[in-house]
Amino acid sequence: MPSPVLSVIVPAYNEDAVLTAFHRRLAATLDRLGEPAEVLYVNDGSDDRTLAVVGRLRAADPRVAVLDLSRNFGKEIALTAGLHHARGEAVVVIDADLQDPPELILELVECWRRRRADIVYAQRRERAGETLSKRTTARLFYLLMQHVGRVHIPRDTGDFRLLSRRSVEALRDYPEHHRFMKGLFTWIGFEQVAIAYERDPRRAGASKLGWVKRINLAIEGITSFTAAPLRFASVLGLIIASAAFLMALYIVYKTIRYGDPVAGYPSLMTAILFLGGVQLTAIGILGEYLGRVFHETKRRPLYHVRDYRPAADPAVRHAERQDAG
Ligand code: UDP
Ligand code: MG
Repeated sequence: MPSPVLSVIVPAYNEDAVLTAFHRRLAATLDRLGEPAEVLYVNDGSDDRTLAVVGRLRAADPRVAVLDLSRNFGKEIALTAGLHHARGEAVVVIDADLQDPPELILELVECWRRRRADIVYAQRRERAGETLSKRTTARLFYLLMQHVGRVHIPRDTGDFRLLSRRSVEALRDYPEHHRFMKGLFTWIGFEQVAIAYERDPRRAGASKLGWVKRINLAIEGITSFTAAPLRFASVLGLIIASAAFLMALYIVYKTIRYGDPVAGYPSLMTAILFLGGVQLTAIGILGEYLGRVFHETKRRPLYHVRDYRPAADPAVRHAERQDAG
């Protein structure tokens, strides 16, 4: 069987409402591309009818491959599982919710060919249909990653991108469990090129990333790429300790000079509470990193596959299918 030029990886977690419409647009795009392609749906332990829907898509379109994970592992791992199973010369990663327009794949491929880029990422012009709070936190996060995380993650870029074979191979060498894919994509280097596009609001179903997941992802991103928060804790501790020392000197001086008419309860309370807070923060940061060490040293497999069904024939195009049927 010919191996495809292009693999499209679609992580899907409870996306049965949107998958059929998604695949219709994707298939039309691949028809226009006219190259052997596979579409790898990674079912990330959905508990709706996602698996049945992708099964139906595979029966109707020989380019469709299905990777069924044993449970929900989260998007980053689902993506990784997809990357491990993709066979194409170039691999496109795209969300199932139609926020990333599948039509843009043509441009991604064009750019990969013409400019010999290793990573072509799609950069949003604006975040349509997203709340102000989500936009601000996203912005804040990118800023933090850039200045504290020392990895320049391109702003307003999702996971939607094209990867060359060698960058997919490079990503295989990262065994870490705490994977922050957006960071890793940048981390591996090679030739990276941006393409601008308008992002649509989610078509159907709800965002699977609630606030808790979003905050987790941000902490994940920062702590997987830098130990700077640890330094921050030490520096803050040092500053506060020095301030406390100066204040002690001052108090001793004041007592000697003017005597001590008690009082001072409020300042005492403030100092104690403040220091308590700072200590808890510092311990929390330590714990965050310790937790990472704990998880990574277990060396557990990243995911388990319940079922993998490769594409029946990546070379088939829609037009030919119609001739045959
Ligand atoms: N997704 C997944 N596993 C999860 C959560 C999400 O595979 O645990 C998939 C989801 O089906 C979608 C993509 O990741 O294709 C992006 O998810 P979502 O649209 O909810 O994220 P957002 O666009 O809000 O960042
Ligand atoms: Mg989305």
